[in-house]
Amino acid sequence: SPIPDYLLEVLESCAQDRSGELADYIPELASADADRHALALGTTDGVSYSAGDAEAQFTIQSVSKPFVYALAIDDIGLEAVRARVGVEPSGEAFNELSLEGGTGRPLNPMINAGAIATHQLVSTEGCEPLDDGAPERLARTESVRARTGRVLAGLSAFAGRELHIDYSVAESEFEESYRNRAIANMLRTHDIIGGEPTEAVRGYIDQCAVLVTVRDLALMAATLAGGGVHPVTGTQVVSAAAARQTLSVMATCGMYDGSGRWLARIGIPAKSGVSGAIIGVLPGQVGIASFAPRLDSEGNSVQGVEMFERLSQDMGLHLMSAE
Ligand code: GLN
Repeated sequence: SPIPDYLLEVLESCAQDRSGELADYIPELASADADRHALALGTTDGVSYSAGDAEAQFTIQSVSKPFVYALAIDDIGLEAVRARVGVEPSGEAFNELSLEGGTGRPLNPMINAGAIATHQLVSTEGCEPLDDGAPERLARTESVRARTGRVLAGLSAFAGRELHIDYSVAESEFEESYRNRAIANMLRTHDIIGGEPTEAVRGYIDQCAVLVTVRDLALMAATLAGGGVHPVTGTQVVSAAAARQTLSVMATCGMYDGSGRWLARIGIPAKSGVSGAIIGVLPGQVGIASFAPRLDSEGNSVQGVEMFERLSQDMGLHLMSAE
């Protein structure tokens, strides 16, 4: 197949652009190797391709948000999720301290406010606390570990293999997480979340520290593309309705305040994260994942955006295109 060579060519040509910065508000990410990079595709019928450091592991960060949103929808139902988290683009940075006027809901599940709330909506019924040697630290209570266990199992089902949490990244983020704690306190004030706000932040940050490769992310994205069915294991990970809802929100909110420009230029529902990953999903067809750590001012991977732009143009992937 010519596809691997093509992916490598795209990866290498985009690697020329060394602009952007590593996320430095998470100390462990600031010391990551900025020159690792990879690109992968996974089709809904189970064929996958990759180029570059396809085995390199990095933390999933905000790319976890759409998947956990889909899990929450199946756990408690769309209406119950919608009562607490909206579906409107915020046009603001991912970590903005903002809630909808009147309801106090976070605007959408792709910004931190919405993702912290969504993490708390996942059901822990019948879940044992995660027993993976997690350091016993502030706020990592049994109920936090039960929820993290459920989220980790869900993300693993999306990937089709057992995933693990990088607790050094989680610890490093949690220590400096004053902004996310402010967001969680705000959510607690409006009764969007219950319990101790710090516990919600702890669980959400552990969720963000799940280790993945581009290959995992391409399969996770392909699972959303395939109406919730994993292309290789055949497992129905989430319902088709949850997958559709999730892709709709990715299309309008996945790239934060760059979402409108992204949809017009690239035309693929997507989600980015501060470790430098981006996933894109073409419904019914393919999941795409890129990894390159330097970020633009909106927190999206510079080279990742360029790679997606190339793929969209060369392969005619823009969803709004009539050709
Ligand atoms: N864990 C990160 C945070 O909460 C995730 C943000 C991101 O990837 N954009 O700040």
